[in-house]
Amino acid sequence: MNCCEGCSPESGKSKFKPGGNALERRDTFERPLSRNSPSSGLAMPPAAKKSKANPGSEGDDKENASTSSSASATSAATSAAGPRSDYLSWDDYFTSVAFLSAMRSKDPSTQVGACIVNSSNRIIGIGYNGFPAGCPDDALPWSRVGPMLETKYPYVCHAEVNAILNKCSADVRGARIYVALFPCNECAKMIIQSGIKEVVYLSDKYHDSDQCKASRMMFGMSGVKCRRHVPEKKRIVIEFPDVEKEVEEDRKRVREEEEEEEEGRGK
Ligand SMILES: [Zn+2]
Repeated sequence: MNCCEGCSPESGKSKFKPGGNALERRDTFERPLSRNSPSSGLAMPPAAKKSKANPGSEGDDKENASTSSSASATSAATSAAGPRSDYLSWDDYFTSVAFLSAMRSKDPSTQVGACIVNSSNRIIGIGYNGFPAGCPDDALPWSRVGPMLETKYPYVCHAEVNAILNKCSADVRGARIYVALFPCNECAKMIIQSGIKEVVYLSDKYHDSDQCKASRMMFGMSGVKCRRHVPEKKRIVIEFPDVEKEVEEDRKRVREEEEEEEEGRGK
């Protein structure tokens, strides 16, 4: 397979494969976290045009503020009289969450994340590619080549599947899922069966693969909408505040408290 993170590579013996060296080509996209981001930024494909994603959903901004990131607090557009104007659109936001989640992946070659969102723009599931729970990350192979059982492919759970299984809501019916790559056929089946109604993806570079053809066919039959999102922001950087000074003050406070305690005991 050559659609997403756990799909089999060039091993011609595998029944999971086709696609020859498709993975080689794919990896250039599947490492989006490091490709254009020398710092701790999340690099996303450039926007083809400035567009307003999910227009009309701003009304939910206030009530959903609890899920908003505290990152990138600097804003040139901030004014005392009104709200910021350069905040993240919903689509950029959830796409970024999917990319951030991918940074948790232990896979040395491919990091993929997924984010599931309900109709109220609440995140109800996040996942990234990795081995099943209880299977230590260093006990199974991460290789992409070799005999089937010596590669990662029979063991890795795809981000979409993990996001669905990790849901923090009763179910994900009617939700939408944000992914970097158009889902493979195995994930497509899971997405459909879970009741997700929309797939928002960035890249469809394996559009012509059999796996993606099968996914499209099944999505079409089952009424799952597929939409490509072109990020409005090319790059999103998370910059943590410098808390060194505060940490030093904390240490000083603890030292003083300890000294006072010692003095108290000495009396
Ligand atoms: Zn998949």
